[in-house]
Amino acid sequence: MAEEKQCGACMSPAGACACGKSPSRRTPLAFLRAWIRLAAGFFAGSLFSRQMRGRLRRFWAGNFRRGYVKRQLARRRGECGQCGVCCALGITCPALRQAGCCSIYTTGGRPRNCEIFPLDEKDLADVKLSGGACAYWFEPETKAG
Ligand code: SF4
Ligand code: SF4
Repeated sequence: MAEEKQCGACMSPAGACACGKSPSRRTPLAFLRAWIRLAAGFFAGSLFSRQMRGRLRRFWAGNFRRGYVKRQLARRRGECGQCGVCCALGITCPALRQAGCCSIYTTGGRPRNCEIFPLDEKDLADVKLSGGACAYWFEPETKAG
């Protein structure tokens, strides 16, 4: 009986792989790349990723988009309910106490990101997706005439 040649990639007889890919392309590096792509795809769609993007967005706006921040805060309404959900978006702030209290709230040492939260409806949505309900809300945007 003739010995069947194995391609080694999926243990199918050579030339009969269902995927049709050449065995020569299935190097360890190709597998690594595939796993990285898979992990990146999973991360991109995760809540953690969204929360971290929100942090970056607020950092950028707080430091480089002063006009936008001013407009947004002008239409923000309500008061902080001190639920602490925004303090644990993505990563939990070390200054957050168990009771949902900020240990540096009265010291004036809070980062600007905290002072401007929530900055827009995306932030409200982030809190909601994280299981909370921010007590702030925004007046509808008015078009400048
Ligand atoms: S510094 Fe205070 S307000 Fe800001 S995220 Fe931390 S606990 Fe929350
Ligand atoms: S989610 Fe809203 S209500 Fe809760 S602590 Fe943050 S700003 Fe305050």
